[in-house]
Amino acid sequence: MDRPDNFRIKRVEQEAPDIKRFVFDEVIDAEPGQFLMIWVKGVDEIPMSPSSIDPLEITVRRVGEATKSMFKLEEGDYLGIRGPYGSSFSVNGEKILIVGGGVGIAPLLPLAKEARDHDLSIGLGALNSDELIYLDELEGYGDVFVSTEDGSSGYEGYITEAIEEINKYDSLYACGPEPMLYNLFKQVRETDIYAEFSLHRYIKCGVGICGSCCMDPDGTRLCVDGPIFSKEELVDTEFGEYRRDSSGRKEYI
Ligand SMILES: Cc1cc2nc3c(=O)[nH]c(=O)nc-3n(C[C@H](O)[C@H](O)[C@H](O)COP(=O)(O)OP(=O)(O)OC[C@H]3O[C@@H](n4cnc5c(N)ncnc54)[C@H](O)[C@@H]3O)c2cc1C
Repeated sequence: MDRPDNFRIKRVEQEAPDIKRFVFDEVIDAEPGQFLMIWVKGVDEIPMSPSSIDPLEITVRRVGEATKSMFKLEEGDYLGIRGPYGSSFSVNGEKILIVGGGVGIAPLLPLAKEARDHDLSIGLGALNSDELIYLDELEGYGDVFVSTEDGSSGYEGYITEAIEEINKYDSLYACGPEPMLYNLFKQVRETDIYAEFSLHRYIKCGVGICGSCCMDPDGTRLCVDGPIFSKEELVDTEFGEYRRDSSGRKEYI
């Protein structure tokens, strides 16, 4: 397993009350959807998918110990980074739909950039208008529609309800809360639409050794077999039902 390299933070930008973007000087040789292991020194090492590859950027939602510590970092501080790891998105078809929920839009940005010459629609869902991040950048890549749960911008409700006609798309790419992903999976499962989903599980080693991100029923390791899965790979798995916490106990979704 590689040791982390030291990456100097060039800039930190506040994108939403609990979301920050960290910009680095480096470029990383990653494909859209792959992830990095970010070592927050003295605290923990956590998975993050780049929101930009050239230059490297990561976009972080503050949820727990490691991400709270990251929020205290400033320009000139260092993070340890190893990777990239895992599978990536593959652009298929001409009429493409990308759906991001909350900070889940971040790993889809490099994909949207790559697919910008296609007939691209992008759905972005968030709790409220303050949490709708990267709208300007996304509007440069395709037709954007938004939803907020409180109705402060766009459709009032979930982004899955704001998709008018899913059958008109050749392919779907999604990242966000698992209930959102599972709803989309159910909508495309019986169709010819090609679909890929970026899943989250508790990742510890990132290289397929420790087993913390294994999924039922066959022990698929999210860190090496995923985090990007096609809809076919997710049929009859734990997806949409439960995942494991840091101690291996089931957390029902
Ligand atoms: C492949 C991959 C890519 C990711 N990319 C990003 C990204 O670009 N930006 C970003 O902000 N986050 C991303 N995450 C999620 C991020 O890794 C977790 O938010 C982080 O590990 C939480 O660490 P913590 O110490 O701050 O919180 P913890 O103290 O570990 O947890 C705090 C809360 O967050 C929940 N949580 C922890 N880990 C996860 C997880 N993997 N998925 C869902 N909920 C979790 C816990 O259940 C708990 O409720 C990604 C996760 C994976 C697996």
